[in-house]
Amino acid sequence: MIINEEFIVNEIKTGKNSSHLNDILKKAENGHGLTGTETSALFQQLDGKSLKDALRIAAELKSRTKGNFASLYTCLYITNSCVNDCGYCGYRGSNKDLERITLTPLQIEDEARAILEMGVTNAILIGGTMPEELYKGLIVEGTRRIVKGTALSPWIEFENLSPQTLRHLYEVGARHFVLFQETYNRAKYRRLHSNSPLKGDYDARLRKVDEAVDSGFRNIGIGALFGLQENHVFEVLGLYHHAWYLMGRGVGVCISIPTLKPAPGLSISSHGIEDEELIKIAATLRLALPDVSLALSARETTELRNRLFPIIDQIGSGGTPNPGGRTSHKAQYRRGDTQFRLSDTRSPREVIEHLATRGIEVKRFVKWQPQLF
Ligand code: SF4
Repeated sequence: MIINEEFIVNEIKTGKNSSHLNDILKKAENGHGLTGTETSALFQQLDGKSLKDALRIAAELKSRTKGNFASLYTCLYITNSCVNDCGYCGYRGSNKDLERITLTPLQIEDEARAILEMGVTNAILIGGTMPEELYKGLIVEGTRRIVKGTALSPWIEFENLSPQTLRHLYEVGARHFVLFQETYNRAKYRRLHSNSPLKGDYDARLRKVDEAVDSGFRNIGIGALFGLQENHVFEVLGLYHHAWYLMGRGVGVCISIPTLKPAPGLSISSHGIEDEELIKIAATLRLALPDVSLALSARETTELRNRLFPIIDQIGSGGTPNPGGRTSHKAQYRRGDTQFRLSDTRSPREVIEHLATRGIEVKRFVKWQPQLF
């Protein structure tokens, strides 16, 4: 079983009563990672000064083991049509105010070139969910054009592609597959996706990531959307166990920790995340899993991102969360037809300049390092 909820609940209980915070921080400093129970204890006990210490240690660890490097990524939306109805998303099928757009392969290629011109070298190919037959050809052709016609690295994030399509994408040159579980709480997942026919099955979503590995992908992105529920330690441990499982399959793992943000047509309220809480989440994951890559979206504020940059490998920048927002459909982007709102609106050049002042060099690609056994 990839995610054993009972096991995680026990880790939460045991970690809560641990009195070894200093020992755990010392162990983490050595770069050997932490057990699930230690991760649970660390997350639940970090506060005030110890959180500052954890962030400092996490930055030193990253600098020592991976170097002061980061790479930039952004999302390239190919469609905002969606048959699902996730209450936390502006693209939800029941949002009748949204003009639905699906790009052509040529428009996808134009977006890819616009992304490169901004100085971003990795793009998550993403969109709403349609029956696979309706868009698998477009996804494959869009990916093929990006690989053949540009220097952009496409990361694939679609939830309902068959193993055959995944293999096809691998054959045309895609090497990264991304799929967020959204929440590792099974009951919560079921409730949130009760009106989402192509997203309702918690286990099928976990299996889809495995199918991507079986299809050849060796770089796997996972994530939880923080703010969907209040029990953050459960999500941290869900990510921890999912990452360990995937590293055991020999792949490099990148963990994303986006927070729920306002979006047009949102039908649920967020369990807001304080800045210190997200810092705790990021620092805990960096210390517990020093070999994974950590990604940080531009959903978060400039100030918070600046604090977290020293422990992040993949930095979201230059986003326009709607199809064609940089090229063919700028007007829709300008009027706010987006999946969610970005907070850090600095251009990629401004982010690169800021990172340079912090001694962080932006590379085209920073590897999602596999665990070495
Ligand atoms: S989260 Fe994804 S699947 Fe759900 S409504 Fe939004 S685009 Fe569709």
